[in-house]
Amino acid sequence: MSGSLISVIVPMYNEEEVIGTTFTRLKEVMDSTGDRYELIFVNDGSKDRSAVIIQELSLQHKEVVLIDFSRNFGHQIAITAGMDYARGDAIIIIDADLQDPPEIMLQMIAKWREGYEVVYGKRIKRKGETWFKKATAKLFYRTLNALTSVDIPTDTGDFRLIDRKVCDVLKGLKEKNRFVRGLISWIGFKQTSVEFVREERFAGVTKYPLKRMIKFALDAITSFSYKPLRIASYIGFTISFVSFIYLLIVLYQRLFTNTTQVGWASIVAINLLFNGIILILLGVIGEYIGRIYEETKNRPLYIVRETIRQDEQSPVADT
Ligand code: UDP
Ligand code: MG
Repeated sequence: MSGSLISVIVPMYNEEEVIGTTFTRLKEVMDSTGDRYELIFVNDGSKDRSAVIIQELSLQHKEVVLIDFSRNFGHQIAITAGMDYARGDAIIIIDADLQDPPEIMLQMIAKWREGYEVVYGKRIKRKGETWFKKATAKLFYRTLNALTSVDIPTDTGDFRLIDRKVCDVLKGLKEKNRFVRGLISWIGFKQTSVEFVREERFAGVTKYPLKRMIKFALDAITSFSYKPLRIASYIGFTISFVSFIYLLIVLYQRLFTNTTQVGWASIVAINLLFNGIILILLGVIGEYIGRIYEETKNRPLYIVRETIRQDEQSPVADT
């Protein structure tokens, strides 16, 4: 299968400190494969010089492609755009911050040559990430696996290789709230993993503050499971049942005994508690309705300001 074209997708958001180095490392690794390749940088509305740097690189290196978003659409959307533009027989997704070591791509490509259609990177160790990040990540994967029926491998990120076939199927899934690695698991095909040590961020800071992590987790859970809705009804049933029993007891006491019921405080407490629970459950339902609303609007997933691709005319001419 030599002479195949490999696309590498790099989503980037304010990565000016690293992106030059990332390019050099990616180029080194990809040159060593002897395959043709394209490096697709998706600029997710960076406010710094990331796009300019890539644009300058693209003048000298025709394998560099830039997709420039009109604003920030988010990491998962950036990856999706990369896939829409990728032409490769295999597509690799890698972070811009060098936390995913580019050298691992060689092992992924080797597995792909063996016939695997999805090769995901499995983090056996995470360097330089806070305990908070690691703990929340662990909790997230546990919850996700408990709530969903799709088997999403733990300790994997979006660092992975997918075959052209998988990419084409993925492009057909048009949902707006995308959790790409879940979608890839859902699709199936022959999957395997390669292990790697997740490095520290080469420079810059994480673009996933807590708020984004929560959104990410909610997207992941709601797009693969409606169990939270079911849990809502279970809780509802349980509370109603217990309340009914309690009502019977109260009636019995009122009619057949002369125990007087005092308790303004208890009524208020119970009221507050149940109101709280009801609001939470309404919120859960709201999460789903909001997402249905998102889907029905049918807006495009992203808006591209411009794409820069030097070899526009002859995508596969030079070998
Ligand atoms: N990223 C992006 N858009 C965003 C946030 C992040 O394209 O809105 C990119 C970012 O540039 C990086 C990758 O997604 O290449 C992963 O982000 P980051 O390294 O900040 O996340 P972490 O590794 O801390 O989970
Ligand atoms: Mg990172």
